[in-house]
Amino acid sequence: RVSFGDRIAAKLGQKVDTRITHAVDGVSLSVAKGEALGLVGESGCGKSTLGRVVAGILAPSAGATSVAGEPVMSGGRKTTTRVQMIFQDPFASLDPRMQVGDTIAEGPLAHGLTTKAQARDYVGKWLTTVGLDPAFASRYPHQFSGGQRQRIAIARALAMQPDMLVCDEPVASLDVSIQAQIINLFLKLRRELNLTMLFISHDLGVVRHLCDRVAIMYLGRIVELGETQAVYAAPQHPYTQALLDSVPKLVLDDGVTTSFKPIAGELPSPLSPPAGCHFHLRCPLAAERCREERPLLREVGAARLSACHFAPFAPA
Ligand code: SF4
Ligand code: MG
Repeated sequence: RVSFGDRIAAKLGQKVDTRITHAVDGVSLSVAKGEALGLVGESGCGKSTLGRVVAGILAPSAGATSVAGEPVMSGGRKTTTRVQMIFQDPFASLDPRMQVGDTIAEGPLAHGLTTKAQARDYVGKWLTTVGLDPAFASRYPHQFSGGQRQRIAIARALAMQPDMLVCDEPVASLDVSIQAQIINLFLKLRRELNLTMLFISHDLGVVRHLCDRVAIMYLGRIVELGETQAVYAAPQHPYTQALLDSVPKLVLDDGVTTSFKPIAGELPSPLSPPAGCHFHLRCPLAAERCREERPLLREVGAARLSACHFAPFAPA
């Protein structure tokens, strides 16, 4: 659970409400070694918050996270290097005044993963891994394109030899052609390094390419969880269905297409989520019960969880 009071009010630029808001509430997730789990939802649903908790950047007000049995945080501070995060804007993680080689070497040197004498080779190895020339180490971030900067940010995270990468919309700010290159890089890294990933995205197509399983998030809660192909083929939550319908066209090799239908209504403020099912104001299937009773995430099929009172649904 992650709660915000002032934090969200500050973000809105005014002190609207002093109540505690649960930006992420009652979420329990595990990712297997070598698995990529997608986390999908509209902006403001809490997925970045959850990602930051998993990566040890933000302390939950209740609950805990661990990687390979090791707690990610203790006493409100990150205590492991086993999980690293990659952000949407690679500039956020690259110091403009530092040569990128020094930026990549900084963490590994501090944690004894390399030595001053070997740092040059160590950095070169990770630059090569992400498809860049080791000679780039002496350049500065502004000398690179957006896609190259994201590769550098990935090299920087990998140089910490993490068990897990948390990627928050890592391709969202890139041109479509560059997006495909970075997604292919992630696929290659998964194969070669057996990387475990939590991949946060609002883009269902990107997640379909990259992730074994997908968790769908709405207003701080996971509403559906399952194997990616199975979830897309037969969603077991009306919100997942609405998300899939809202994609103009999922152009995919297996012939699945959807017609464009925006999700009805606005995303309610996380400061005052509706009672009962958080989705009931926008749900075409909402009934009396949905306004009062919170649907719990429960098993509705093989390896499939849904938080809808009326799941399972027959495939369309
Ligand atoms: Fe819709 Fe009710 Fe299911 Fe919520 S519980 S998704 S409102 S049908
Ligand atoms: Mg976000």
